[in-house]
Amino acid sequence: MKDNTKSSQRKIWHHHPPLPIPNTPVFDWPPRPGDAVQWLSSRWINVTASSLFLIVALLVFHFDVLPNDKAQSLSADWILQVWLRNLTLILFFAGGLHLWFFTFSGQGKSFKFDAQTLKRSGKRFSFGDQVYDNMFWTLSSGVTVMTFFEVLYWWAVANDVAPGMAFSGAELWFFVWVLALPIVGSTHFYWVHRLLHWPPLYRKVHALHHRTINVGPWSGISMHPVESLLYMSDLLIHFFIPTHPVIFLLHLYIKAIGPAFTHAGFERVVAGDTKLVSAGDFHHQLHHRFFECNYGTADTPWDRWFGSFHDGTEAASERIRQRVRERALKSGGVRRWG
Ligand SMILES: [Zn+2]
Ligand SMILES: [Zn+2]
Repeated sequence: MKDNTKSSQRKIWHHHPPLPIPNTPVFDWPPRPGDAVQWLSSRWINVTASSLFLIVALLVFHFDVLPNDKAQSLSADWILQVWLRNLTLILFFAGGLHLWFFTFSGQGKSFKFDAQTLKRSGKRFSFGDQVYDNMFWTLSSGVTVMTFFEVLYWWAVANDVAPGMAFSGAELWFFVWVLALPIVGSTHFYWVHRLLHWPPLYRKVHALHHRTINVGPWSGISMHPVESLLYMSDLLIHFFIPTHPVIFLLHLYIKAIGPAFTHAGFERVVAGDTKLVSAGDFHHQLHHRFFECNYGTADTPWDRWFGSFHDGTEAASERIRQRVRERALKSGGVRRWG
């Protein structure tokens, strides 16, 4: 397999997917049912982070699920158990991807987006080092908030505060949830992310995540605790709409572990010429590079509808630069962009 490097953006990107990058056809009018079905199903029928998380969710539910009576009261023993499991999962996925891509350079620069090598040191990072900074915020803020939502969910189901759901008799509803999760998550992410770019909240909270421009697996949930809480708050939907616990766990893993893949900085994990699993999300990589674009994901058209969609082309880069220049002139100051 060859990297796609024949591009006018070669200085920025070592590799990028075919441009312009696609956006979901699910909301197109007139409808394109064939394309919509393919878009919705492809992540589940191929080896992707989402399909791996579905397997992990099924395994955790089968082998590790808490007995209801234990979760009825909040006690340190089972909360610690949940925290340790989540810590292990994050260490396995984010740590494993980092070791493969960066420590052992398992595939060299194959499918690496950014043309620059990872420069770790920098005054803006905690401990003066990008990787230590990202690991610290992921393992402290990220894993704790992830565990907070999971503990709250088990407690709420055990006490009939959240409506649980059995699989038997609700099979169709289970599969509707699976297909809907990326749309729910993407919509919530777009709006929360726009809020996080509101200057006062950006400076105090979201700037921490944007310290990192050349992202890696540990950058994914390297967030201020307030951002982690806002970012994962779409999990509260399961407190209102009946959900099988596997769906909750799947949603939790897409939110908390998914960013280790989407921020990997490499489009896919390959061994030789064999693709093992898709990884980096060029849509979000563009957000870290160009800052005022792609607040959501490609699974919803919010960015397209509100004019902030960057499709990876030079024309889109120029449009974003122009908009930032105009805004800076209007506000009489210079606005930073990545
Ligand atoms: Zn942002
Ligand atoms: Zn990010």
